Amino acid sequence: MSSLKCRVCDSTDFELVLDLGDQPWGNGFIRPEKLSSEKSYPLKLIFCKTCSTSQLDFTIAKEEMFIDHTYLSGTTSTLQKHFEDVAQSVCTRFLKGLEKPIVLDVGSNDGTQLMEYKKLGCEVLGVESATYVSDFANQNGINTLNAFFNLKLAESLEQKFDVINASGVFFHLEELHSVCSGIKLVLKPNGVFVVQFIYMKLMQDNTAFDQIYHEHLLYYTLKTITTLLNRHNLEMFDAEISEIHGGSVIGFIGHPGARPISDRLTNLINEENESGANSIERYSEFAKAAHEAKTKTLAWVDFNLANGKVIYGLGAPVKGNTLLNFFRLGPDKIKFLTERNPLRKGLVSPGMHIPVIMDNELTEKPDAYLVLAWNFKAEILKRHSEDVLNGMEFYFPVNPGSKT
Ligand SMILES: [Zn+2]
Repeated sequence: MSSLKCRVCDSTDFELVLDLGDQPWGNGFIRPEKLSSEKSYPLKLIFCKTCSTSQLDFTIAKEEMFIDHTYLSGTTSTLQKHFEDVAQSVCTRFLKGLEKPIVLDVGSNDGTQLMEYKKLGCEVLGVESATYVSDFANQNGINTLNAFFNLKLAESLEQKFDVINASGVFFHLEELHSVCSGIKLVLKPNGVFVVQFIYMKLMQDNTAFDQIYHEHLLYYTLKTITTLLNRHNLEMFDAEISEIHGGSVIGFIGHPGARPISDRLTNLINEENESGANSIERYSEFAKAAHEAKTKTLAWVDFNLANGKVIYGLGAPVKGNTLLNFFRLGPDKIKFLTERNPLRKGLVSPGMHIPVIMDNELTEKPDAYLVLAWNFKAEILKRHSEDVLNGMEFYFPVNPGSKT
């Protein structure tokens, strides 16, 4: 571990927090006939003793992960509503009175977020590395460059932006410092960089260890993302907690001094400090709780199987694969994963090789669901209200607490 440098502060002084074993890339849903080509990589969370940033000690090359991925943001109504809310709020707070404001989305996926800005009268530009997904966005009228965003790409852009959005990608970035420099370069003097990231403090509070996967190289708290932003002469001036992805922060960032620091941000930072979220002791508790979740879930699965029950996995999110691989749950225990994203039809899950079936093509229902997409708890229980009434069990291996 000694040769590895902290992605935020360059220190080499780390402590191991949680070892989830060797796992394939969690988004690597695979055709059954291609299983022999599947590769596994270490999945370990380590803690930088210098700047407190938790991160992975191993990077799968971005070209291997982000050119062929099959994640589409537009597939859930919860996310759709979230994108709408973010665009509304950003336009109201920061873009009033501007003529044709222009918005850049880094890692724009299928253009779902930009579509909301476009509806509100903004000009939009997306940058998305996955070829299929960026083609899809262009076909839907969202101007999208099929590329990785970094300083070089930023230098090639001819305009600067009133808003730069990065939702759910800021922890993927292998070229973190180049991306930050690029954002600094193309953000207008009064522009706002809106970053959304899964909040490590809430991962700790919820024992959401399954948010750890190879795409997420970094796990931020307000303290650690501030360390990163300051290195690039950017300043967070406001932040709010969002329930999205099981507990995220939406941070609002500008050039230093451009806007006043909000009381809301100050309060969140105080809460974070009081919770000990940046201490190795809190991380050790988190790792212990992850092992306890494993013991409890396996007991539930074994009890049901012993009683002749059939269990399916609900959803096939990337984080579900972290959980299934860590718990060693395969198709002998979880018969199918039910999913709505049609790109995953006919594939099996990476590592555990559980077949994926479309949830509108089920020929028989299970007795119980192990809910892998636990962050959509309300949406799932609503959609399955009839099944719940008929006695079907929905088990949540990770339970978002009241703190989100
Ligand atoms: Zn560090």
